[in-house]
Amino acid sequence: MSLYDLIVIGGGPAGLAAAHSAWQNGLRKILVVERDKELGGILNQCIHTGFGLDYFKEELTGPEYAGRFIKRLRGTGIETALGTMALKITQNREVHAVGKKLGYAVLSAKSLVLAMGCRERARGAVGIPGTRPAGIFTAGTAQRYVNIEGQMPGRRVVILGSGDVGLIMARRMTLEGAAVLACVEILPKPGGLARNVVQCLRDYDIPLYLSHTITEIRGDKRVEQVAVSKVDKDRRVIPGAGFTVDCDAVLLSVGLIPENELANAAGIVINGKSIATSVPGIFACGNTLHVHDLVDHVTAESERAGKAAAAYALRGGTP
Ligand SMILES: Cc1cc2nc3c(=O)[nH]c(=O)nc-3n(C[C@H](O)[C@H](O)[C@H](O)COP(=O)(O)OP(=O)(O)OC[C@H]3O[C@@H](n4cnc5c(N)ncnc54)[C@H](O)[C@@H]3O)c2cc1C
Repeated sequence: MSLYDLIVIGGGPAGLAAAHSAWQNGLRKILVVERDKELGGILNQCIHTGFGLDYFKEELTGPEYAGRFIKRLRGTGIETALGTMALKITQNREVHAVGKKLGYAVLSAKSLVLAMGCRERARGAVGIPGTRPAGIFTAGTAQRYVNIEGQMPGRRVVILGSGDVGLIMARRMTLEGAAVLACVEILPKPGGLARNVVQCLRDYDIPLYLSHTITEIRGDKRVEQVAVSKVDKDRRVIPGAGFTVDCDAVLLSVGLIPENELANAAGIVINGKSIATSVPGIFACGNTLHVHDLVDHVTAESERAGKAAAAYALRGGTP
């Protein structure tokens, strides 16, 4: 079994900053385990600007921001295992992982940093009635299709939810030639940052329907129409107050959930506030800890997690 000073699970901005900070704080045998084929996490698909204003005092795209940390790692002896999925962790800091380089491996470390990011809520989580045709995507999946895979998820689009991912995709789909017919938000105010409401909806004349929701998705093989209804202050549908939109795609931007299944399965509690988990020597940071709006805050927090993990490992893996 390979023994590391630190294993970081997740090679997004949180994992990269934690690993680099642990190196700077004296650790030498560090491994970053990343299931994707490259480092950078969700930033690789965020090709818009708006990253780094706090940390670098510059406005960068997502890949540029991630690139700076990947470069920092290259100047160290930190090991990375790409295309490698952590399947299981234990309270005594073992990591069961599978990947091309390692095969199935059980790794062990004096400290662990959990930096697995978050996942998007999908249709099942909001329970939208209707048929189950093609053309329904989470906004992040659509973003990956457009920005990385070069595929268009639809041409006449309705977006449910006005969180930042949905707003950014409203603009992105428009720039790629789609008609974004509506952004529908159940709350009386937008969910995303004010700058995104202005720059992604208003600047492109995309209508935002506040206190509205999609009450039915219609279509056989492909989405054909959605029914949109007005809701009252208790989010109850007001009968008869609504309209339909003919469309071929629905993008869902209805919330993000910290990715902490590995911790849950091992009985490790991530409390959402502190980088320390319930188990000494195991730390959490970035969107695994709680969902962050700004990556600059993820970086600052993850540097603290890396430093704490280094201190723990340098004490020989004892509290
Ligand atoms: C559409 C969108 C727009 C955004 N816009 C901005 C913006 O303009 N400005 C800004 O500052 N911030 C923005 N953000 C927020 C910022 O990008 C995130 O807060 C940040 O990327 C979170 O970093 P993370 O490392 O915690 O998670 P992620 O970037 O999601 O990285 C997690 C990594 O862990 C890996 N992983 C997960 N589970 C496993 C496993 N079991 N084994 C191995 N690897 C695993 C994943 O593959 C991933 O690479 C945006 C986010 C999105 C989605």
